[in-house]
Amino acid sequence: MNKGKLIVISGFSGAGKGTVVKGLVEKYGYSLSVSATTRAPREGEVDGREYYFKTEKDFRSLIDYNGFIEWAQYVDNFYGTPRKFVEDELEAGRDVILEIEVQGAMKVKKQYPDAVLIFICTKDAETLSERLHKRGTETEENIKKRIARAAEESESISEYEYVVINDELDKCIDTVNSIIISKHCRLEERIAFADEMVAGLKELL
Ligand code: 5GP
Repeated sequence: MNKGKLIVISGFSGAGKGTVVKGLVEKYGYSLSVSATTRAPREGEVDGREYYFKTEKDFRSLIDYNGFIEWAQYVDNFYGTPRKFVEDELEAGRDVILEIEVQGAMKVKKQYPDAVLIFICTKDAETLSERLHKRGTETEENIKKRIARAAEESESISEYEYVVINDELDKCIDTVNSIIISKHCRLEERIAFADEMVAGLKELL
């Protein structure tokens, strides 16, 4: 059986990548990795669903036990991808989505060279700022930090294989799904299939 693929989805805070990821899970059944974070839960967030909410001490001990595939600091908090879930899902042949920021994505790319890296963008900078303000979950100071971080992250877009603009949500979800499907159809993924086909055809002669 083929192993699953790691799908890394990054994008500026406010680009709507969380909603895109939710759509991919609901509409196409992808497996989603739940990260650990030291950030406080936002209203409506549930431990174990949006994140595993950890103290800094617990987070650091998970780092020490090699419990993360990658971890990074983002604005004032730590975020990390728990190793076990991802490894088990890939082994079982399921594609796993990681919704993570750029530093973490680069670490994943090194460890899993065939991971699919996708960057989600708004159509322009003004739209990003508008969305962050409308969300109403962050302070003005935090929004400024997130925009500064977006400016930094924009320099790493060239490290990604695909850039998808999230202007219309449904279209964006379908585009990302098509990218993943096309990855699975690449020849290197289909070698065993091609060999079997050749053998099967020869038997027919
Ligand atoms: P937020 O605080 O808005 O939920 O997330 C802030 C940023 O952290 C987002 O860009 C999100 O994608 C990223 N993030 C969430 N989980 C992880 C993780 O496990 N690792 C890394 N490197 N970034 C993460």
